[in-house]
Amino acid sequence: MERMMDAIVKPVAGPGLELRRVPVPVPGPGEVLIKIHKTAICGTDVHIYNWDPWATQHIKPPMTIGHEYVGEIAELGAGVKGLEVGQRVSGEGHITCGHCRNCHNGDIQWCKDTVSVGVDRDGAFAEYVCIPAHNVIKIDPQLDEDVVAFFDAFGNATHTALRWDLVGEDVIITGAGPIGIIAGGICKYAGARRVVITDVNEYRLDLARRLGVDRAVNISKEDLHDVMKDLSIVEGFDVGLEMSGNGAALNQMFSVMRNGGKISLLGISNVPVAIDMNEIIGRGLTLQGIYGRRMDNWHQMSYMVQGGLDLTPVITHRFNYKDFEKGFAAMNSGMSGKVVLDWTK
Ligand code: NAD
Ligand code: ZN
Repeated sequence: MERMMDAIVKPVAGPGLELRRVPVPVPGPGEVLIKIHKTAICGTDVHIYNWDPWATQHIKPPMTIGHEYVGEIAELGAGVKGLEVGQRVSGEGHITCGHCRNCHNGDIQWCKDTVSVGVDRDGAFAEYVCIPAHNVIKIDPQLDEDVVAFFDAFGNATHTALRWDLVGEDVIITGAGPIGIIAGGICKYAGARRVVITDVNEYRLDLARRLGVDRAVNISKEDLHDVMKDLSIVEGFDVGLEMSGNGAALNQMFSVMRNGGKISLLGISNVPVAIDMNEIIGRGLTLQGIYGRRMDNWHQMSYMVQGGLDLTPVITHRFNYKDFEKGFAAMNSGMSGKVVLDWTK
């Protein structure tokens, strides 16, 4: 008889989500079934909840959503080696082809045929999720599961921040969403001299301060040039991390970079953004688009946490999964960092 489980499902095209009974997935050859312990809500899940234009283009209901999670291996499909039932794990959410030039080069984040868990196929907001063994990430059971629940987002921040040398550098981060805040913590941990983060949301700027940034700037009230003067940043920022998806923030970043500065771009804009290309040319800026994570980022994340990077202040809400509506309301209010859902009770 088919086994059933609870899952948070997008039932039909339109706003909202539903807790439903759905079949437990059966791991095929080379796949692993993971019993979910904790999940975290990502901005993408909020897009899906709200059914915005991005969601209407990418999501094919009915499906289970969610891709930030930690759990334990419940079952191994035929032929899976090197993993054991009971092992603490998370999973890389991008399932890649393994055959394209980027996959061969270890740059799986640029695979041309990537399939996303919780977007293109059933996700992890459920009692169980099934993924290819290759995507399973072993997690040290000593790590705090509430933090591991959002390693996927931590991975985006790690990928964006560690793209450039940070030791002794001055860093500007635009956007103090959960990923920007985490990036602030990473930059300080990695040895940056000054880390300045901008936003227009005081609640989130406050969270960023708790992660140890040197200055959290409300850009609607303060001028970045005054802040730079205060912090003895004379020639401009060496490294920029764009994490707002806002065109005005990006153009502002250009204006405060040192000539020759390095910028990584994570934030995604819903609309085309106009930029002054002469700023990039004249200042000799380097721009790097960032998508997803590198597989090696998963190792770096565990090591940073074990080395003392404390991300617990980013967690602002914890709910049982049955109260997922409260979690999405917190995310939609803007008065939140990471929201963690517990699937163990
Ligand atoms: P978020 O939407 O929670 O945070 C964005 C923040 O930017 C908000 O706090 C907002 O108030 C702030 N902001 C808006 N306008 C601003 C401005 N002019 N100056 C400074 N800040 C401003 O997003 P998040 O979950 O932290 O993710 C960060 C970004 O990265 C989002 O755009 C998200 O879509 C994107 N993202 C990209 C990838 C990728 O693979 N490239 C992966 C995950 C997330
Ligand atoms: Zn590929």
